[in-house]
Formats: sequence, structure tokens, C-alpha cells
Amino acid sequence: MSAHAGAGIENAPVAAVRCADYDVGNVRAALRELLAPLGGMAAFVRPGERIALKPNILMGSAPEAAIATHPAVVAATALAVMEEGAHPVVVESPGMGVAHARLPIRRAFRKSGYVEAAERYGFELCLDTDWEMVSNPGARLAKRVEVVGGVRRADGVINLAKFKTHMFMTFTGATKNLFGVIPGLNKAGYHARLAEPHRFADMLLDVAYLVRPRVNIVDGILGMEGNGPGTGGLPRRLGLLVAGSDPVAVDVACCRIAGISCAAVPVLVAAQQRGLWSGWESDVDTVGVPVAGLQVKDFVMPGNYRGMGVGAGGSLDIALRPILRRFNRVPRPKAGRCTLCGVCEGACPVEAVSLDKEARTAKVDDSLCIRCYCCHEVCPSAAIDLEFTGLGRVFHRLNLL
Ligand code: SF4
Ligand code: SF4
Repeated sequence: MSAHAGAGIENAPVAAVRCADYDVGNVRAALRELLAPLGGMAAFVRPGERIALKPNILMGSAPEAAIATHPAVVAATALAVMEEGAHPVVVESPGMGVAHARLPIRRAFRKSGYVEAAERYGFELCLDTDWEMVSNPGARLAKRVEVVGGVRRADGVINLAKFKTHMFMTFTGATKNLFGVIPGLNKAGYHARLAEPHRFADMLLDVAYLVRPRVNIVDGILGMEGNGPGTGGLPRRLGLLVAGSDPVAVDVACCRIAGISCAAVPVLVAAQQRGLWSGWESDVDTVGVPVAGLQVKDFVMPGNYRGMGVGAGGSLDIALRPILRRFNRVPRPKAGRCTLCGVCEGACPVEAVSLDKEARTAKVDDSLCIRCYCCHEVCPSAAIDLEFTGLGRVFHRLNLL
């Protein structure tokens, strides 16, 4: 770290290694190599501890869709935890629009290949549905957070995130993944209350540092580019694993690898404003293989990516953001692809979605829509396009959106 380094993450090294595929033997070897410069798994777990592994499932989906943390990464981590004499348990409350109930959790585990992996490698999947309101006095926005019981009862958490683009937050890696400790439908309330990306990002930091994982591991073996993080994105073979004890440091390194400007990632801008890091991307490098040796060419950014950054325009930019947001892309479910499954309707935090059985598609009320893109994120059929309309097209051409 150079003299630019911020107050929080300069002592939190990030490691990265190459891993070509999801063969569990190969992932185990890569994981050992990844964690070695950080002290190995022994630095993060102790014998007899119960360790929650928190993957990104979002919704149940086939591993090759690159939406969920791959079961091979979960299995390799579980085996490494067991080697240290601790007990791993996979805890997740998938996506939005789905209740934190046993049946949807089990279905998401099964569709994502976790049930098969758990049976084969002997680790536990948590099906508990309780949660607890936890006080978070140091927080800026989320001073009380609902946290699922599986995480509350664990002695420690290992964050198993996925390397993906995100239409609302630009990038989802370690920090954003921890929003998943909030049970099912409760997540929608945060979107409704914190519709502005920078406020939502501030809340994500509050939650991430409340959970404070022992280590954050990002599965970028098969990552996602384009309009992620759900079926709208495109799987992209990146062939890497990234890890570190601080989620913000890990995300900065991931963004550098993909060529994503950290100034365009609200959570990293919010972290800089809190003094957690300097804002100089070069202050965060990776041990093992340095960022320069990992950089991905032609990574496809999400459709609403503004390389100049969310805070580039200073106070005027901040003042105009809430107004301009009304002209941002709107979700347009498409007849022919829409199956009327209703998942988007359940996910929408402001009840802007309804199902039009006659037109055989979901419909969005643009006057209610807060452009959180939860519907786009959870649609299992990639049936929702995000389109500019009216003045939005003009603002987009002027590079204001
Ligand atoms: S748009 Fe997608 S999520 Fe919504 S009803 Fe249609 S298929 Fe289901
Ligand atoms: S319709 Fe609008 S407010 Fe509702 S989930 Fe979609 S983007 Fe969010």
C-alpha cells in the first residue's frame, strides 16, 4: 500500500490465484494457494467452531448460469474448514420476492447443485427460518438489521461471493453479498426506503461490517458480465479466485481486475467517503498474482455503467441524481418470454408490477417504479429488458444517465 492508503483497509491484504475450472480437486488446491499468504484457513477458523458459509445464491439456478457461487467452491471451502476441525454450515436466504421459508430455501439449494455437493462431501445446509433483529449502533443507516438465525448462531462467517456485474450497484462481490443475511422478503423494505444508490450502498456497508466475515472469498472462475446479476447477465470465464479479510479491499481488487472504475461502484464510493480506503485504486493490489497479471480484457459493463463515476459531478451531480433517476431505464417485461410466474411481482418493493393475463406478460407502472431493478434481477426467464423512454433517451445521449 502506498501513502495514499485510507484508514481502514491498508492492513487487509487481498490474494488472488488462477483456477481454470470447477473440478473440486483443482478448486481445493487453488483455495490452499489463495489462502496461504493470508495465513491459511487456520488463520480464520478454530477447532470446534461452527462456521457459516454465506454463498450468493440469488435464486436457484444451474451452476453454469454463473448466477450463484459454484457448489465446487462451497464444497472446497467446507472441506478446508473441516480440515481445521471446525463445522461448516451453508446459510443463505435467497433473493427477493421469496419468503424465508424452508421450501424455497431447499429448492434454491437443490437447483444450484448444493444438495448434491453437501451429500457427497458431508457438509450441512441450513434450513432454519428464524431470524433476529440485531442492533448495529455504529451504523450510518442500518442501525437495526434483521439477521438470519443460521448466521447469528455461528461462531464466525466465511463470505463466499460471486464475481458479477449488477445493474443497480454496478458490481456485486464481497460487500453486496452480505445483504443476503437479511431474510427473504425483508430485503424489499431496504430497497423501498433507500432507493438512491448511494444510500443503499451506505446501508450495504453497515450490514457488511456488522456481519464482519472472517474471510471473503470471491468465485470468479466463471464470473458474470453485462446486465447482471441474474438471467440478464452473461457468464464470463475469468478463471480466478480472490480473497481477503476486508470485503471492500476484495471488491476494489476485483473491480481493478475487470477494469470497472471504482468511482462507478456506489459501495466503493461510500467506503471512500467513510475513510475506509483512499479512493486510489492502485493502493489495493493482490498478493500471489498481482492485479497486473490478472486483468481481464473487454469485460462487458452493465448497460447503465458510467465510467466517470457516481460522484464525478460533485454537488451538482448529487443534487440532480434523484431527478435524473426518474428518467433512467424502466423494466419492460416481454410477452413471449414472460411466463407470468409472478416472481417479479413479489420482488418489487413498491408494488409497481402486476400480471396482465390478457397481454400474457407482467406490467410495470413507471410512475411507481424506483428503478431498483430487483424485478430484472430475479426474473428466472430473462424476460425483462431495461429500456429508456421519452426524455430518458435524450438524457442518455447527453451522457447524463
Ligand atoms: S417478467 Fe419474469 S419474473 Fe415477471 S412474471 Fe414474467 S417471467 Fe416471471
Ligand atoms: S418495477 Fe421498478 S421498483 Fe419494482 S422491482 Fe422493478 S425496477 Fe424495482
